[in-house]
Amino acid sequence: MTTMVSIEPLAETCRGQVITEDHADYDAARAVHNGMIDKRPLAVVRCADAGDVIATVKFARESGLPLSVRGGGHSAPGFGTNDGGVVADLSPMRWVRVDARNQTARAGGGTTWGDFNHATYPYGLATTGGVVSTTGIAGLTLGGGIGYLARKYGLSCDNLISADVVTADGRTLVASEQENADLFWAIRGGGGNFGVVTSFEYKMHPVRDITAGIFFFPLDRGADVLKFYAEYVHTAPRELGLFPAFQVAPPLPFIAEKDHGRTFAAIIACWAGAPEQAESVFAPIRDVAPIVAEMVAPMPYFAINALFDALLPAGLQQYWKASYAVELNAGAIAAHLEHGAQSPTMNTAVHIYAINGAVHDVAPDATAFAYREANFATVIAGIWPDPADNERNIAWARGYYKALEPHSLSGGYVNFMGEDDGDKVRANYRQNYDRLVSIKREYDPENLFRMNQNINPRSVGGL
Ligand code: FAD
Repeated sequence: MTTMVSIEPLAETCRGQVITEDHADYDAARAVHNGMIDKRPLAVVRCADAGDVIATVKFARESGLPLSVRGGGHSAPGFGTNDGGVVADLSPMRWVRVDARNQTARAGGGTTWGDFNHATYPYGLATTGGVVSTTGIAGLTLGGGIGYLARKYGLSCDNLISADVVTADGRTLVASEQENADLFWAIRGGGGNFGVVTSFEYKMHPVRDITAGIFFFPLDRGADVLKFYAEYVHTAPRELGLFPAFQVAPPLPFIAEKDHGRTFAAIIACWAGAPEQAESVFAPIRDVAPIVAEMVAPMPYFAINALFDALLPAGLQQYWKASYAVELNAGAIAAHLEHGAQSPTMNTAVHIYAINGAVHDVAPDATAFAYREANFATVIAGIWPDPADNERNIAWARGYYKALEPHSLSGGYVNFMGEDDGDKVRANYRQNYDRLVSIKREYDPENLFRMNQNINPRSVGGL
């Protein structure tokens, strides 16, 4: 790749490493979690601090080079890297400070949920985060944030108290209810469109050890599992986070060897209420159908957030689709049974997350996260090791999504969208889209932050 832009001035300014093509770490530095993404930026800046972030933002703006911002690097479309541009990689900015007295925690923009949950556990405090420990708090929170504690405590973004944001003009602003309230509204669901968040401050809750795990049921009882879930989600106490999945059984000791590699309907559950109530809350799940295998036990909260880690190492091929639904009707259940049963690999995640309870306590226009009436957020995360399977597995995910479409709302969760879903941004924000555009015009009129589910400042209004 040839470019007329010299990276020297940026390298001289930054404390963190500035990695270009000639560096031994270049291939590692340009890679993101999705192994299908093979992009070659001019430079990856491993930002040591907010000063490096400001320098990188200014450099990209002045040089006219594309800018990617990377937290945990988990975006399936690979927004955390680019061809020929600059990457502000915040992964060195991994730190967490807990204020136990005020039940808050502040964390750096490159922190992962594994870092965060580990650091807050000794204080007996947690907040809603993702179900995999290696995902970044940044991208996940900015897009909304779905996890086991959402029914009780809301989305991750609902627990955001404030954020330090480096804007396109290089200023650092505090975004909170009190300061820059419009920016604060926009970053709670609007993704990385408005600036680089160098630190996040969260409301924390008294959660330390939970009872949690996974139940496997025969695939041919999948209809019973989904029908049960569609109802139980409305009556189960909010302390229960749960979702069904179609899962190819991994070779784990609690699963009979003959079942390894076979597909099952599963329910993953996390009880964050009083430990002595766990059995009665799980009893209806156990009654759904004969249990093929089960691994449910008391454990630290951070452990359930690592349940899927081994299945999702960096470097696998990924293609994702996503939708929201108010109900799991007969048509949706039929589509899930037909396509979920064909889940191509052990790594693939077909999860139907419950996003009711406290998520619905927040008004649809109170934050940028628009779909507060949805009870279910489905992700069809096709994940597989061999690039030779790309065409077949992408076709599977697309076919699955198409079959669900008539039973889904018009938009989906921005953090679960695939690389070819850029045209859905308006639908994903629906009634909040126009306000997002006007805030984008104020903070990023030139669309410097465009490597994301992009809110284009030049969009014309109306739905
Ligand atoms: P990145 O690729 O680093 O960033 C994603 C987006 O956020 C990009 O547009 C980027 O520019 C922007 N961004 C990143 N850091 C910053 C920053 N500091 N300031 C401003 N913008 C920034 N989502 C859920 O809600 N719940 C889950 O349980 C969940 N599990 C997942 C598990 C896996 C294995 C994967 C791959 C994804 C999962 N997701 C989940 C989706 C996840 O929320 C998105 O992929 C999210 O974008 C990841 O954030 P990141 O910081 O890791 O990614």
